[in-house]
Amino acid sequence: MARVLGPKCRICRRLATKLFLKGPRCETQHCAVEKNNRPPGQHSEKRVRLTDYGLHMREVQRAKKTYGVMHRQFKKYYLEAAAQPGNTGDHLMQMLERRLDNVVRRLRFASSRDHARQLIRHGHIRLNGKKASIPSLQVEAGDVIEPAKRELSRKLVAEAVTLRKDLELPSWLKVEEEALKGTVVQLPTMGELRQPLESQLIVEYMSR
Ligand code: SF4
Repeated sequence: MARVLGPKCRICRRLATKLFLKGPRCETQHCAVEKNNRPPGQHSEKRVRLTDYGLHMREVQRAKKTYGVMHRQFKKYYLEAAAQPGNTGDHLMQMLERRLDNVVRRLRFASSRDHARQLIRHGHIRLNGKKASIPSLQVEAGDVIEPAKRELSRKLVAEAVTLRKDLELPSWLKVEEEALKGTVVQLPTMGELRQPLESQLIVEYMSR
């Protein structure tokens, strides 16, 4: 399972962007990027000017770290996206966004992507009434995501919902908070993706 290991805030600072790798802290003024958007390390007063190649590579790293995807899987997504008609970058971003772990987080059923993966891996999440233990599953329009019937599963999800209830829900998702039931109303379009990633740079890098 791909996970972002090590000090998460340092990764955000290194890549000069908020990747939302932690829980509720990412939404507050205590976020390390908001407090000090400089690269980590003792001699980090200024950022090194990146080459064109470096800019492309950084965008790919941002995407991988944001969605917690290793290179092999990321390449697979890219090849699948490139094989489809239309804009490759749009398809790639949509595939990343449709991952079950991402959707569980977006539904506010987990405090972070790592937490979402843990809930899925430990059998706390149901997809259309069936146990779903693979974080990379792709959701479809109309899919229903809920905690398992067990008391512990419902408690864990209810806690995350309470913790993150003030966050705005993407328009392509719907949540019935009392019932702890999330629905994929439609697949996300580029305009609805909240992650500020330059998909064109990613596609240019991956097609080299
Ligand atoms: Fe990144 Fe800020 Fe969250 Fe730390 S708190 S992981 S810097 S978004």
